[in-house]
Amino acid sequence: MATRVPGALTRTAAPAVAAVEALTRGFGERTVLDRLDLEITRGEFIALLGRSGSGKSTLLRALAGLDDEAEGGLSVTGSVAVAFQEPRLVPWKRVHANVTLGLAVPDAKEKADAALAEVGLTERAGAWPLTLSGGEAQRASLARALVRDPDLLLLDEPFSALDALTRITIHQLVLDLWSVHRPAVLLVTHDVDEALLLADRVLVLDQGRIAHESAVPAPRPRHRDHPDLTSLRRTL
Ligand code: ADP
Ligand code: MG
Repeated sequence: MATRVPGALTRTAAPAVAAVEALTRGFGERTVLDRLDLEITRGEFIALLGRSGSGKSTLLRALAGLDDEAEGGLSVTGSVAVAFQEPRLVPWKRVHANVTLGLAVPDAKEKADAALAEVGLTERAGAWPLTLSGGEAQRASLARALVRDPDLLLLDEPFSALDALTRITIHQLVLDLWSVHRPAVLLVTHDVDEALLLADRVLVLDQGRIAHESAVPAPRPRHRDHPDLTSLRRTL
């Protein structure tokens, strides 16, 4: 377990994919995360709800190791990948190069090919990011996360800018990818239906803590038999 060290995040090995203990982060006078506790189990799918400004992105940044100023205990086992609301592709690199960016493994090219195939973007591998549709850019962002083979996949409102039909397709894609690769997923969303549809566990962040938590009862419509998709296929 992580030990609490004031003024610093401690990173230690733990049986859970991630464990957060008394995580505290403020900006100026404002305390955004207030001794927050959270444990993420290997392979689970969590949806994180909360009002705008409640600290969801701040929590994700700390989990991703992008925040040096949070205090408290944080332990993450294995690798973490993040996909943001805006895909944040580097505009002067083609899609394939965006996926392999910073990936220091010998078979990076092959891994990127495979990830792009998985998200259905093989034909856009050589495209410039600015020529992609919103859904394609989000797929590229998912491929970039997947290629890192994460144990913990952090998704910060990745679907909110997409139109409804694209969103349904990408929901399906995320569930498919999750069921194959089985990373733990922490998905930030504003959409309660989306949370209940995708997640095993729904958390609500309020007043700097996990204020509410509920397990989503199984069985739920998932994967190929998802009713949204079935009716969508009928319409198309
Ligand atoms: P959420 O993702 O839940 O909408 P955020 O984690 O982005 O919320 O932000 C939580 C609060 O922290 C907000 O009040 C926001 O203005 C503030 N905040 C976030 N990042 C910074 C920063 N880098 N500097 C100052 N304030 C910040
Ligand atoms: Mg946010």
